[in-house]
Amino acid sequence: SKVPSITLNNGVEMPQLGFGVWQVPDDEATAAVSEALAAGYRSIDTAAIYENEVGTGKALAASGIARDELFVTTKLWNSASETWTRESVLREFDASLAKLGLDYVDLYLIHWPRAVREDYLTIVRTFAEIAESGRAKAVGVSNFQPAHLERVIAETSVVPAVNQIELHPNFQQAELRALHARHGIATEAWSPLGQGKDLLADPTIGRIAAKHGRTAAQVVLRWHVQTGNVAIPKSVTPSRIRENFDVFGFELDDEDLTAIAGLDNGTRLGPDPDEFD
Ligand code: NAD
Repeated sequence: SKVPSITLNNGVEMPQLGFGVWQVPDDEATAAVSEALAAGYRSIDTAAIYENEVGTGKALAASGIARDELFVTTKLWNSASETWTRESVLREFDASLAKLGLDYVDLYLIHWPRAVREDYLTIVRTFAEIAESGRAKAVGVSNFQPAHLERVIAETSVVPAVNQIELHPNFQQAELRALHARHGIATEAWSPLGQGKDLLADPTIGRIAAKHGRTAAQVVLRWHVQTGNVAIPKSVTPSRIRENFDVFGFELDDEDLTAIAGLDNGTRLGPDPDEFD
């Protein structure tokens, strides 16, 4: 495959570009994921709360692509309604596998720290047990802030393989990226295109896109790849699904990278993980 991969801290290879399916209804997920697989994506990012694991699984099965060429991520929805226990985590994991129609996932993530309930250490330990069983090739977290990661590392023997966080040129997450680098945690960017809003109309991005004969979305995704992030753009439009995958035939130069570094303005599009519960 032409998609570069990064090596996670347990040796598992993860493609740097994947396909995200948040907000894709279950009955549209099969078509969208099939389109993505046909375009060449091999990594798919879903979650229990997206309620499209069934539709996603159907596309994986119908593709005929060998299981070991796919990289499937799903996430535990550790909702505020209960305090999680080993048993409830294992139950939810089994439910996700059944919906996906898989006997293992490549990556299982805790969707949010929900730190006020203080049960994420229990979840992390249970995830380690799932990884041990081989039913997740790697386990990690999502939306963990520095304090949450430090606590996991200090109090369990687990260093998450991945932290999937909001990250795009307007929100570059320097502190977390530095912490990840120190601990060997891969940085995965959600809303990598800034949800297709202001970022794609930014004049600096537009100038760089014109210079390379590329689109704004391609420049932003290329920036993620060259920055060392994993990116999982979402689209249900076939032409955009293909456009977003076609980012390996050009390279941003130092001047481009410096200009994009200057776009970091602290704009968070999603919830603040310290407050979200
Ligand atoms: P994104 O940055 O991928 O933007 C997607 C939107 O951008 C599309 O809906 C479309 O409107 C637009 N778009 C896509 N391609 C385009 C193109 N080529 N040209 C112009 N516009 C284009 O945002 P996202 O969907 O929020 O994030 C991507 C994925 O990240 C999700 O599908 C999901 O898998 C994951 N995610 C995870 C979390 C989390 O809490 N872990 C939160 C949000 C998203």
